[in-house]
Amino acid sequence: MAESELLVLGAGPGGYAAAFHAADLGLSVTLVDDAVNPGGVCLYRGCIPSKALLHVAALVNEAGASAETGVAFAPPKVDLDTLRGWKDGVVRKLTGGLGTLSGARKITHVQGRGTFTGPTSLSVERAEGGTEEISFRQAIVAPGSLPSTLPFLPIGGRIMDSTAALDLPDVPKALLVVGGGYIGAELATVYAALGSKVTIVEVTGGLLPGCDRDLVRPVEARLKGALEEILLDTRVTGAEASAKKVKVAFDGPKGAKEASYDRVLVAVGRKPQTSGFGLEKAGVKLDDHGFIVVDAQRRTNVPHIFAIGDAAGQPMLAHKASHEGRVAAEAAAGRHVAYEPAAIPAVVFTDPEIAWAGLTETEAKAKGIEVAVSRFPWAASGRAVAIGRTDGLTKVIAEKGSGRVLGWGITGAGAGELIAEGVLAIEMGAVAEDVALTVHPHPTLSETLMEAAQGILGHATHYYGR
Ligand code: NAD
Repeated sequence: MAESELLVLGAGPGGYAAAFHAADLGLSVTLVDDAVNPGGVCLYRGCIPSKALLHVAALVNEAGASAETGVAFAPPKVDLDTLRGWKDGVVRKLTGGLGTLSGARKITHVQGRGTFTGPTSLSVERAEGGTEEISFRQAIVAPGSLPSTLPFLPIGGRIMDSTAALDLPDVPKALLVVGGGYIGAELATVYAALGSKVTIVEVTGGLLPGCDRDLVRPVEARLKGALEEILLDTRVTGAEASAKKVKVAFDGPKGAKEASYDRVLVAVGRKPQTSGFGLEKAGVKLDDHGFIVVDAQRRTNVPHIFAIGDAAGQPMLAHKASHEGRVAAEAAAGRHVAYEPAAIPAVVFTDPEIAWAGLTETEAKAKGIEVAVSRFPWAASGRAVAIGRTDGLTKVIAEKGSGRVLGWGITGAGAGELIAEGVLAIEMGAVAEDVALTVHPHPTLSETLMEAAQGILGHATHYYGR
């Protein structure tokens, strides 16, 4: 039986970050995953391929919008095989790079499906055949999550989950996206840019529930122009798939109706992957929602086993998993650490992007927290006007009285890049004045954070009258 000082199960952004950091701290690490290289859902069939495709969607949209500048491009010709190959190349480059980094750290990578056989042992069904038994002193479990499904929309054929949709089987004439959350909004953006007539059906009253409405509005406005239809407060009640079409029944504010689509994408959330690999044999406890119960160091009820990432609680975001992974690795190496981020940013890579971090206005209202909110419209940003993207908004939410920065919300081109400054401000306990007094380069969209913070003090240079 092979012996490991630290076993890491699952090589997504949580697992590989944990394995790499633990190896850097001097532990001998075995990393078990069914793929040939680290990467997990994020790199193989999530964040990275979707961002590659969203980049192409942005190119198409920008080229289409550029006629008003006096420079017009011909309508795009989409060569799906080349596009697919390019996207797969992006994935290969990054996962291959992680494989090299793993090897350089002398991490033992075992490719296969691991199942716990006890609190200190794992059996791996190796991809190349045969099984390998590994005994470990400590373990970090990072199994990730799986797409949720709907009983009447079984995945297969014309009914796709996000993995199938990212494979780009074709550009369907009519695509129905069930669920207007992160995945629904992002992949609707991709397929609409490639030429599909896309309908989103969302069971709640708005796209991206959980995000402040003022941030969603610019995205909703743009999607209304780009998509065939957005059905809100509408439930899918049944579906019937034939060889060429999927007939779908809806129930919404205007009553029941039916429509046919060439393909359907189901994106109704994800659930933790915490069964089917012997966690119970290791003695690890789950909560009522199926998440692994962890403490501040991400230790499970079995003290030498840690759990991180989507399987260890919300939010199910790659960067949260990576951060937890580094915390767990340090704890495994005997350091005194805790997972206690002041804010975890969320980004939806739609066009425009939406990013937020810390306290939202909706939460402040619900919890009765007294806050001051300052909104800076991008129409007042020189850079936003120069790039033709005034459809943005930067807002800061500060504690009333002290001005301590509690939250940020940004909608606009590149919002995902801009939010990091806001997160740092929250993490460092900054007050609005700190951000307002920080010299920001001109002309950039980053100035919108400074001006929003100036607004808390009552004097934003490029915005008058509040
Ligand atoms: P989600 O939770 O973001 O959205 C699911 C949506 O489906 C919700 O709006 C919900 O109201 C709706 N819904 C649920 N049941 C429905 C039904 N029967 N009919 C119609 N609508 C229904 O989930 P997702 O979009 O599937 O994404 C899964 C997870 O993956 C996210 O929670 C997120 O953590 C992660 N993710 C993140 C990013 C990113 O960071 N940019 C991108 C994609 C996915």
